[in-house]
Amino acid sequence: MALIETRDLRRVYDLDAGRVVALDGVSLDIEQGDFVAVMGPSGSGKSTFMNLVGCLDRPSGGQYRLAGTEVESLDADGLAHLRNREIGFVFQQFNLLPRIDALSNVELPMIYAGFDRKVRRECALQALGRVGLAERAHHRPMQLSGGQQQRVAIARALVNSPSLLLADEPTGALDSRTAKEILGLFQELNREGATIVLVTHDADVGRHARRLIRFRDGRVIEDHRQTPVDARDLAAEAAE
Ligand code: ADP
Ligand code: MG
Repeated sequence: MALIETRDLRRVYDLDAGRVVALDGVSLDIEQGDFVAVMGPSGSGKSTFMNLVGCLDRPSGGQYRLAGTEVESLDADGLAHLRNREIGFVFQQFNLLPRIDALSNVELPMIYAGFDRKVRRECALQALGRVGLAERAHHRPMQLSGGQQQRVAIARALVNSPSLLLADEPTGALDSRTAKEILGLFQELNREGATIVLVTHDADVGRHARRLIRFRDGRVIEDHRQTPVDARDLAAEAAE
């Protein structure tokens, strides 16, 4: 069983101005432990696909199974529960709460999941350690660099030990050197077993994944495995 199984997945928006077919029959399996880049031009359906895979939106047609669960069969509560348990999200703009420190930001998904304070603190500290930021636990987002803020966001995505990390343009707001560091972190997490699906329009970013899926007009037009560029090599090159 694949972690993600979509069959003829469709998403149609009915607007006054007419129908928009954002996703036009996507059938994909994504295996546990893979690192997948989803690429394609603006408007090709990447975010629509991510929102469906992330259980943030419902399809107009087709099937989606996540970790064996038929997502269509769930009500809103069931969907929220599945999302909280199975998926960690990373966004381009980090989406950290500005008034609370890094540790409290990382704890948030565990509050929603109902863990008590002591467990939350321990797990959040451990997740911050995993992204190399344990000593910044009590800094607020404003007191951190962009790359550090994204690390905090990744720690927050990891804290509930999800089966899947979903990242929509996670390096889009970072300079190229910091972007490589973040890609290196994703690769490290992937080597440790994390399943990652990363949306990007940037070919340099896409090269770090093990599998590349390209969308166009709501369909998959290309899907192949590749030997990923190792971000550690690039970091070494940049330092020379
Ligand atoms: P991408 O992320 O690849 O840029 P999107 O998935 O955001 O593409 O969009 C795919 C298509 O669906 C586009 O034509 C877009 O205009 C349309 N679309 C996306 N979201 C909505 C929405 N909420 N309402 C109407 N149309 C939408
Ligand atoms: Mg998009």
